[in-house]
Amino acid sequence: MSQKKVFIETYGCQMNFSDSEIVGSIMKSIDYQLTTEIKEANVIFLNTCSIRDNAEQRVNRRLRELRSYKKNNPDLKIGLLGCMAERLKEQIFNEEAVDLIVGPDAYRDLPNLLNTVDSGQKAANVILSEEETYAEIEPVRLDNNGISAFISIMRGCENFCTYCVVPYTRGKERSRSPETIINEAKDLFQKGYREITLLGQNVNSYQWEDDKSFNFTKLLESIALINPLLRVRFATSHPKDISDELLHIIAKYENICKAIHLPVQSGSSEVLKKMNRKYTREWYMNRIEAIKTIIPDCAVSTDIIAGFCGETDENHQDTLSLMQMVGFDYAFMFKYSERPDTVAAKRFKDDVPDHIKSKRLEEIIELQKHLSLASNKNDIGKTFKVLADSISKRSKLKLSGRNSQNKVVVFPKEDYNIADYVNIKITDCTSATLIGEAVLIS
Ligand code: SF4
Repeated sequence: MSQKKVFIETYGCQMNFSDSEIVGSIMKSIDYQLTTEIKEANVIFLNTCSIRDNAEQRVNRRLRELRSYKKNNPDLKIGLLGCMAERLKEQIFNEEAVDLIVGPDAYRDLPNLLNTVDSGQKAANVILSEEETYAEIEPVRLDNNGISAFISIMRGCENFCTYCVVPYTRGKERSRSPETIINEAKDLFQKGYREITLLGQNVNSYQWEDDKSFNFTKLLESIALINPLLRVRFATSHPKDISDELLHIIAKYENICKAIHLPVQSGSSEVLKKMNRKYTREWYMNRIEAIKTIIPDCAVSTDIIAGFCGETDENHQDTLSLMQMVGFDYAFMFKYSERPDTVAAKRFKDDVPDHIKSKRLEEIIELQKHLSLASNKNDIGKTFKVLADSISKRSKLKLSGRNSQNKVVVFPKEDYNIADYVNIKITDCTSATLIGEAVLIS
């Protein structure tokens, strides 16, 4: 009998991509082969995201397509994984095309659930765990360039920002054992990987339960010490707990990348309070000052929500002025999208009209374009150590890579190869890319 195949399609954040790699590993352990050809698959998994309404709409559209596809492939099994499975439970379970639903903490149960499905029944496990970290499961590397990989260091979130579903879909915060994280990083380095990104909903809350003094700063330092050729990144940080201790460690090690993603969400203290972000505009600016003082060459990126409940034009102007003051290098920008059962949905009116949200979002995007371009122009003439990770999409004669600040840099290939570190002097730029050429450093 030929080997069964599973196709995994992932929506949403990096954590979800990392989870799909755990799922891939569990499926391999029960003799499934991973395929990138949906037509070959016996099982299709959609690993879903609930963060915004349009993320769920995309999955619903995909399910409608798969429903028709399944009519011609009656043996095909379709599983819905991740946050939508957790949030919608019965509602999505009753969807005709879906054979199984599995929440983010229940992937170890996949072999049992698939047995149930093979016996002709539907199956579900959406139980959230207080301990599950999949610590010892070695993820299969999907989307593999052989250079960069994600390592999940913690799961869940207990910050309860009023707009966010994550605490409900991913449950209690828990940290993975340092030993398994460090071993995974060492193993990746030995396999030729040169860049790892430590992932968690709020990495600064990392704390090992058997030794509470082993916090994120200590973990980051332990990873940096594996080898100077292994670069380390991390995401995401919460502004309320980005400490000077952490910033000093980032400054100390050349291989800890000088790029911090620090979601601000709004520049107005009034709106931040309503969002339950637990910091003010002044606190955020104080942290930015600390970053710029301790790590002068550090890039800062952010997330911004336009049109949260009750946001006035003055609040919106506060966001624009904070963006100017910080000079973000990059930003992910969205219109507020109410999520059912969150505190915001229960207590506040989603009262900013859609056309105003759109207008504010456009202004935020426009400003960010200028800021990104200004930041890149400021890099012209500087030299960066770039880790080459692919052939440029526009020319086979060029390589593309990232500098420590996480900016994309394109340069002539010459005799350089993917996975090389190359010193590149920047000669030109767009708002999205730095362009340069290799230089020898004496
Ligand atoms: S920190 Fe806030 S926005 Fe981020 S996952 Fe937790 S609740 Fe959601």
